[in-house]
Amino acid sequence: MSHGWGYGPANGPDKWAEEFPVANGPRQSPINIVPKEAKYDPSLKPLKVRYDPSNAKGILNNGHSFQVDYVDDTDSSILAGGPVSGKYRLKQFHFHWGAGDDCGSEHTVNGVKFPCELHLVHWNTKYPSFGDAVSQPDGLAVIGVFLKIGAANPRLQKVLDNLDAIKTKGKQTTFSNFDPKTLLPGSLDYWTYEGSLTTPPLFESVTWIVLKEPISVSSSQMSKFRCLLFSAEEEDSCNMVDNYRPPQLLKGRQVRASFK
Ligand SMILES: [Zn+2]
Repeated sequence: MSHGWGYGPANGPDKWAEEFPVANGPRQSPINIVPKEAKYDPSLKPLKVRYDPSNAKGILNNGHSFQVDYVDDTDSSILAGGPVSGKYRLKQFHFHWGAGDDCGSEHTVNGVKFPCELHLVHWNTKYPSFGDAVSQPDGLAVIGVFLKIGAANPRLQKVLDNLDAIKTKGKQTTFSNFDPKTLLPGSLDYWTYEGSLTTPPLFESVTWIVLKEPISVSSSQMSKFRCLLFSAEEEDSCNMVDNYRPPQLLKGRQVRASFK
């Protein structure tokens, strides 16, 4: 991996353990969720999310995905309830997707892959900052949302309209006044388990909250994601596709469900 991690044959998920041995650790993500093996836990609370649209500050092509960043110096955009205690602040959201509509999600359900998966990343305010929280066992809570081919999604389109401006690695532009709650499905029923970042450094710091109900995306909206490039402006162009890690071993972990 002399040129850093990525998703290609030479630097992809199969090679990450060379530089990041925790890739073979006990609580890695994503996983395949088997609904009939998830345990309904009546003690799990409903998920509470409250986001301030004015906290949206920018959108960035980071060379692995694109992310929408939020100002996180107050408690105005937070996740609480669900499987976590205390308050977790929204830091950013991003996506993973495939080269075609037949794959792209990181989590799978009964082995079924979705074309895309949204991740909303939050950090535990018991720590002073995202940077302090990111490596702690209870440092992060990430909401995962599957995207399923169907009707065009007008809320998602507001995000996709900015991708032309961040085509290559390192490009960013301002992005303001966006409430990511508009991207969530009608039902906030979820599966939850203790896992990790799905990209290096793969810290085992994430309480995963994977929503059962997918949101819709049209096939033509999916093709917009694939116009992004992994490469920088001065490099040979390489389309940003298949930027997902495949499911990892469960290693005895119990997946819990908030619903029967
Ligand atoms: Zn992610």
